Amino acid sequence: MEEVEGSCRGDSGDHRKVAAAFVLEMIWKRALIIGCLTMSFLGIINLALVSRTDNKRGEDYFSGLLVAGFNRSSCRSRYESALYRKPSRYKPSARLVRKLRQYEDLHRRCGPHTASYNKVLRLLKPGGAAREAAETGCRYLVWTPTYGLGNRILSLASTFLYALLTDRVLLIDRGNDFSSLMCEPFPNTTWLLPLDFPVKNFNSFNQGHPLSYGRLVKNKTLRNDVLEDPFSGHTPSSFVYLHLTGGYTSEDAYFFCEPDQLVLREVPWLLVRSDEYFVPALFLNNIFDLELTLMFPEKEAVFHHLCRYLFHPSNEVWGMITRYYESYLATAEEIVGIQIRVFDKKRSPFDVVLRQVLDCTLTQKLLPGIDLSHPAAVADRRKTKAVLITSLYTGYLEHIRTMYWEHPAAGGLVVSVHQPSHEGWQNTGNKAHDMKAWAEMNLLGFADVIVTTARSTFGYIGQALGGVKPWILLRPQSATIPKPACVRDFSMEPCFHAAPHYFCRGEKGGDIGAVVPYVTRCKDVPNGLKLVDLGPSKV
Ligand code: GDP
Repeated sequence: MEEVEGSCRGDSGDHRKVAAAFVLEMIWKRALIIGCLTMSFLGIINLALVSRTDNKRGEDYFSGLLVAGFNRSSCRSRYESALYRKPSRYKPSARLVRKLRQYEDLHRRCGPHTASYNKVLRLLKPGGAAREAAETGCRYLVWTPTYGLGNRILSLASTFLYALLTDRVLLIDRGNDFSSLMCEPFPNTTWLLPLDFPVKNFNSFNQGHPLSYGRLVKNKTLRNDVLEDPFSGHTPSSFVYLHLTGGYTSEDAYFFCEPDQLVLREVPWLLVRSDEYFVPALFLNNIFDLELTLMFPEKEAVFHHLCRYLFHPSNEVWGMITRYYESYLATAEEIVGIQIRVFDKKRSPFDVVLRQVLDCTLTQKLLPGIDLSHPAAVADRRKTKAVLITSLYTGYLEHIRTMYWEHPAAGGLVVSVHQPSHEGWQNTGNKAHDMKAWAEMNLLGFADVIVTTARSTFGYIGQALGGVKPWILLRPQSATIPKPACVRDFSMEPCFHAAPHYFCRGEKGGDIGAVVPYVTRCKDVPNGLKLVDLGPSKV
């Protein structure tokens, strides 16, 4: 792993050169359109540019992860992000690519307002058509958002993977602003749940709802123990709610078990609410694990691929990302991203977190120390490091920036420190606020080195977009700096925080983190679960 990341750092200059070349290319192309083609010297240059574009084409689509055929101008990030991000060392498997193309066909065939969708929809209306109406081959999974943007992205990616595994069509409840943050990911269709969907008020669905899977199982309305007749003689349910947020009951968590998956297969409409990255639990299910292993031979790149496939910033957000990048980060030799999330100001007061960040970044040599013996040392303009801080608060930026203003950085480095926003508090659902959060997650994804805060899903998104294993700032206990201040994670995969305590009907007290070698405990959340690859990179 170290070797690979070394090579990423080496590549970072190259990918920035490619971004600059892309802008140049656009200028040249415009010049060509207005008649410069006649000038032979420009013709020669153009030839060179065209051939580089051709070479780049595979990268534009992330090695086949993305399909061609979208209107470029409707979602520029889809085509341009490869020019800004470091090249990924993780290639999607042929199996994953095939599965995605099949999924796109299914979504087109069954998507909103198709004849099949209309037919299956009738099952939800009073006096709905007979079950045979559902014989369209279309079943659905509706996702509804909860908690902050990081949580939403994690749970949506997990829900999409479950849809891939179960041949369901994913439709999303757009909430206040989701459709202004993200482009449509599937060609020639939409993933937005139509506004005229007959089931309303998703907020009323919770653990106690009569259609909640946990409750249906508890009441024995749905029988996961009598698989030959899971509906025990009743009319089969058309709609079941899956409550998969932290604090769920063991009956809710039966969702992850094999018999329950056989029961759920029979239900045409599922509604999911989750704040979790529940993918590791899917890898523990015997019905899914083979397919998952074939799709993802590199287990620690699951979310990396899902993120790069599904989540393309809208043009508005992409504009924010690229303007910030070009203004403050593009010329740096190296970008260090530091994501500071304070969950509890009493446990993590400002001065403790600041000292922790400095302790971590200086001890691990992610940032240069300061040179106290040569106050007038002249910096070497060729050695540039940009520090990108993301935080709700301003103080960290001020201190770190002032430190490198008042003293020269060791080794003659030119250090610049930047923070795109300081919103003050979480304001999820507010469009302008969420756009900034999403833009910053993407900017973190451009970093060569990344430091994140333990437990923060915000950081998980940045590290996965960038394909970088983070340094984790451990949670301070009783307002003191933890020792060590940070640890290197063994996988860039997110942690499934609210993992069930024991698996399915296994022994209570058995360790769910020891069932298979590629699902293990997290460094930042000891009770959580995460995917790892085997071998030396695990440690
Ligand atoms: P988590 O709570 O850290 O797991 O991350 P979430 O993204 O789920 O929720 C935190 C929310 O607070 C974000 O989505 C933002 O709305 C806001 N927030 C937290 N940290 C930052 C930050 O560094 N920058 C911005 N712009 N917003 C932040």
